[in-house]
Amino acid sequence: MEQQSFSFAGSQDNAVIVPAHSSLIDVSCELVLEQYAQQLPDLSDITILLSDSNAVNQSKIILLQKAADRGYPALLGPQITSLHAWLNDQVDIDPGIVNNHSRELFLVDALQKHEHIYGHGSPWVLAESLMELFDELTQWHVELPVSVDDFISKLSDAYGSTDEISKALGREALLVHTLWYALHQQLSALNLIDQQGAHLLKLGQSIKTLPEHQQLIYCGVNPVTPAEAQWAQQLAQRNQLKIITHDWSVRHSEKGTTDYIQCLNLIFDYQRSHLKHRARECRKQFPLSPVASVIQVYAASDAEDEALAVDVQVRRWLLQGKSQIGIVTENRKLARRIRALLERANVIVEDNAGWPLSTTSAATVLERWLEAIEDDFHYLPLLDCLKSPFFMEHNEDYLKQVYSLEQHIIVDENVASGITRYLTHIDYRKHKLQNNIDTSIYDQLKTLLQDIAHAAEPLLPLLDGRHYDAPQFLDALLESLSRLHIAQAYSNDAAGQQLLNEIEQLKVAARLAPTQLTWATFRNWLGLTLERFNFKPPNQHSPVQLLTLSSTEYYSFDAIIIAGAELGFLPHGARQSPFFNDAVRSALGTPTQEDKQRLNFFLFRRLLTSIPPEQSDQAILITRRARENDEEIIASPWLAELQSFHQLAWGTDLSTTDLSSMINDDAVRIKRDSAALPLPANIMPSVTTAQALLPRTISASAYQQLVDCPYRFYAAYCLRLAPPDTVKEALEKSDYGQRIHKCLEAFHGNVSGLPGPFKEKITPQNRQQAIALLERITETVFSQDIEDNFMHRGWLKRWLPLIPKYIDWQMEQEKIAAPAATEVTIQSASLDQHVNIRGIIDRVDESQDELRIIDYKTGQIPSTDDVLSGEAVQLPFYLMLLLQQPKHQLADRISHATLAFTAQYVDLGNGSKVATKLVLDHDDLRPLAQQHHQRLIETMQQIRQGDALPAWGDDQSCKYCPMDGLCRKQCWETSQ
Ligand code: SF4
Repeated sequence: MEQQSFSFAGSQDNAVIVPAHSSLIDVSCELVLEQYAQQLPDLSDITILLSDSNAVNQSKIILLQKAADRGYPALLGPQITSLHAWLNDQVDIDPGIVNNHSRELFLVDALQKHEHIYGHGSPWVLAESLMELFDELTQWHVELPVSVDDFISKLSDAYGSTDEISKALGREALLVHTLWYALHQQLSALNLIDQQGAHLLKLGQSIKTLPEHQQLIYCGVNPVTPAEAQWAQQLAQRNQLKIITHDWSVRHSEKGTTDYIQCLNLIFDYQRSHLKHRARECRKQFPLSPVASVIQVYAASDAEDEALAVDVQVRRWLLQGKSQIGIVTENRKLARRIRALLERANVIVEDNAGWPLSTTSAATVLERWLEAIEDDFHYLPLLDCLKSPFFMEHNEDYLKQVYSLEQHIIVDENVASGITRYLTHIDYRKHKLQNNIDTSIYDQLKTLLQDIAHAAEPLLPLLDGRHYDAPQFLDALLESLSRLHIAQAYSNDAAGQQLLNEIEQLKVAARLAPTQLTWATFRNWLGLTLERFNFKPPNQHSPVQLLTLSSTEYYSFDAIIIAGAELGFLPHGARQSPFFNDAVRSALGTPTQEDKQRLNFFLFRRLLTSIPPEQSDQAILITRRARENDEEIIASPWLAELQSFHQLAWGTDLSTTDLSSMINDDAVRIKRDSAALPLPANIMPSVTTAQALLPRTISASAYQQLVDCPYRFYAAYCLRLAPPDTVKEALEKSDYGQRIHKCLEAFHGNVSGLPGPFKEKITPQNRQQAIALLERITETVFSQDIEDNFMHRGWLKRWLPLIPKYIDWQMEQEKIAAPAATEVTIQSASLDQHVNIRGIIDRVDESQDELRIIDYKTGQIPSTDDVLSGEAVQLPFYLMLLLQQPKHQLADRISHATLAFTAQYVDLGNGSKVATKLVLDHDDLRPLAQQHHQRLIETMQQIRQGDALPAWGDDQSCKYCPMDGLCRKQCWETSQ
């Protein structure tokens, strides 16, 4: 394609070719003020047209500054706008204009009807490529022959193809030809026209309707289509249009105004001679490099290193007083990271390129909501939604409900999906806790989940895989978002507003192009729409601009960073159209890939020369990644050419190293808070606690934690990070062990609502009856479960075979002592004037001269050594309880001075047997209880006096410790 440079015959005076290093906007503003000086300050007859609406504001500012310099603080006009916007304002056309969403639906519908010619690919992806192709064909006035055979033969000529290729080509041509005509026939039947067609019509109309007194100034370098060139020519001949443009058709025509520009001309003049020759020639002409004083290159070790380098360099320049800094990159991921780093340093960045709407947090919550609905409210997308600021109103109650759902229902109850399951388990949880705590939070959580189910209702019926009219999906989606209050939250968010706008546009399109969709195709359509549309944050007027190369044409900077200078980003690896190669495009007359890259190269070269010489000292930084994930990243060919040339000519490749040391300098890097962040603990934490935080009552498990790890005790009982003992105990009642305890309690004593007790001494004769009773009790206990689940059935299966073994053990036990009391509950026995102790003893057996404390164990049993050495506290602690509490059912017996106290564990099913484990006789137990009593009093006293509580938990204690996140053992243990 030859560039249309407005060189229309007989009207050269109407075109101003601006040198590449000059700013188009500066020149345009000067020209307007110069040429229309007589009319100042009234320039209302003038309109400046730009190809990029992003540059409108910048142009207005520059014009006003220049006018003020000439003594005109305010102007009337001129209008500054984009060509498209101006045409839309100026001209109404009769056919309605179809939006791209409708066009896409028409094409998808047509593709689905012609499945035989496109195969099994995604019609949405194909429709997008076809729209791009059709736009180009329309813009470049390419009419397809009416006959498909003529079209095929035209393409075959261009491809120079053999018969075999022609066959394949036939399919491509048939697809394009069929869809082109199908679309245009459909549009014409509805008296509609696409946007490119409308642009052409408007160009023609505007020539007729433009008042004679109006003057247009077109300012831009973008390629001009034949229709625009014709339009420009006609208006120029009427002296109503002036063109201000760069001549980018000749690659190296920049006049060598400075040594630096002359050097660049030589560096990139590939056709002049071999690189080595040019480098030698340049060295001869310039013994010292004029480039090294302007350009620096930084090869980063990875993506983060590159972003940090840009962040540091921008801040350096701002400190030096630079006020127009451009960061140019095609790597949008890098752009977002740079923006985040600069904003952390309180540097606002004006991002002119924006990012896909799909990556905004507004779109993310929409996507997660749809995933939650598709995945039966799986906890991951559901929690993401619930925690999104767009979701519901985030007051304190709401946050507590979300916390309860996550911690109590999803984690503790192990429920991963299903609104009904979440609700059922909330009821289970309430039932387990019964009157132990205020359970109103669970009622609120149920209401929240019911609201979520209500919000999903409009969408759920559409997930069944059947076809529905497209507007049904969109109406249901909007209704669902409204029920969740997301739609309302979107209206306060710029990206949210655009997202709602796109959904409304989709609705308009769906009504115009009635299409039936399944849920999967609807999701595809919505996803592609959010991916395709760019979100641009509102203009923030910053000295730092973030741009893509193609949007730099109007900008001037006093410092520039070209970031992401890698193969694929510079030049940008534009998505290749699946239709037609460059030869065919050339034959058809549409722009080729080479044409597009030529413009990109011009823009790159322009950037390198666009800084005025007096400001150019070290004013350009080019960055790239040298490696990523152990893979070498190839530099941009343009950068490689520049560096190789410089190396050959002057022995250096322009690399800078000082950025690297600055990035790693703590004084340079910005941390989020102004105060330094606390360093991670690298020693074992040890804390003291305020007296007021100390618990007033201590249970056996609290005491055990104090012995195992004082820090854990502090976290759990002083900071109250553990659930209260009452809640813990209430929840444990639903554990396996507690169910078996309940069965045995009923077997040996009276428990309301359960069969039993077995009142006789067990003998071989009544053994079977005893077994039968315990089985009946067991059935009743397990039948009281409101949770009829797999786990409970497993527990029952585990316990039933142990019942005869338990009865046999009990028969033996009764030879020593008989049950005297079960579930002996002591809520508050006095330890000293500051602390009480509490606990529940499973069972106490008695004989004539002995009371025997029995603790049923379904889990780990402490070793005798641990008990005797004071490490395992439970059994002596129970004796302390019995001795300290004067009022319980055994108090009378305890008062006998001659009574012996013993204690034992009974292993219930930790294996396949029921057996006595670890018996402490009186001589061991009594002194142990006294020592523990003394130790606990003294320890609590010392803590009250400020003794430290260190995190000295051993591997066993730490294994299941819920406070490990607080003590951060993994951090300090490895550094010690
Ligand atoms: S993880 Fe170990 S050291 Fe840390 S609090 Fe828990 S028991 Fe103590």
